[in-house]
Amino acid sequence: METSFDYIVIGSGFGGSVSAMRLAEKGYSVLVLEKGKEYSSKDFPKTNLNLFKYLWIPALKMHGFQKLTFFKDASILSGVGGGSLVYANTLFHPPEEFFTKNKWSKFGAQIISETLAEKIFYKGGKYYLETKSSTNFLFKRRKTFQANGIIISGGVLGTMELLLKQKYTYKTLPLLSEKLGHEVRTNSETLCAVSGANEKLNNGLAITSVFNPDSNTHVEIVKYPDWSNAMK
Ligand SMILES: Cc1cc2nc3c(=O)[nH]c(=O)nc-3n(C[C@H](O)[C@H](O)[C@H](O)COP(=O)(O)OP(=O)(O)OC[C@H]3O[C@@H](n4cnc5c(N)ncnc54)[C@H](O)[C@@H]3O)c2cc1C
Repeated sequence: METSFDYIVIGSGFGGSVSAMRLAEKGYSVLVLEKGKEYSSKDFPKTNLNLFKYLWIPALKMHGFQKLTFFKDASILSGVGGGSLVYANTLFHPPEEFFTKNKWSKFGAQIISETLAEKIFYKGGKYYLETKSSTNFLFKRRKTFQANGIIISGGVLGTMELLLKQKYTYKTLPLLSEKLGHEVRTNSETLCAVSGANEKLNNGLAITSVFNPDSNTHVEIVKYPDWSNAMK
């Protein structure tokens, strides 16, 4: 397996996938590492009560695409395997050629899933990245990759965790700013559940209506499909 690349992109979400494509278009060799699993359309659970395919808790063999992280004052929902697997937007179906023209491969990007980026260090003008399996606790499949540059696009929590580890646990990137980890904020969304209504409220698409009761408040109604009561 090739271990040396021009760039390594950590995370295959909205940020990581676009960065990888643009770098590959410019002719750089690119490796994309993703801790989540590769999903095809048949792998998605029909309801979120199928917790093994919905939640990401690898220690319990749950390899879904939604991760829950609990803090003292907030609980965070985030996507695993690329946020677009879990996010709720309504999008047009792209033309067929979007799926058949494999641009990343065409330009040379390689994608490795179920691989957790763990430790980054800099030596002799190169970055080194140590990885391990994110799903197999018995055989960690540890590997080291090398690159001229690393793009960390692991979402807010994933990126923050990785950078904090390098600065304070491994002490491999000590020049990272002292401000790291300060003033991190959520996207300011508060989830309020409505249930127990006398009539069916969840007809139609996930998000179709939005209103602004005042200039600081944006209310969005999100509907979950029938039998998807796991978040209740
Ligand atoms: C339930 C939900 C609903 C949402 N709905 C909407 C919506 O309707 N509209 C909207 O615009 N936005 C929505 N969002 C927000 C949107 O999904 C995020 O803003 C977007 O995914 C962020 O993109 P990103 O590339 O920064 O991170 P992500 O898309 O989260 O990608 C980060 C990737 O990095 C991987 N990763 C993290 N750490 C590591 C590591 N150490 N090693 C390897 N891989 C790693 C993660 O598994 C993940 O795949 C929603 C989010 C959630 C959770």
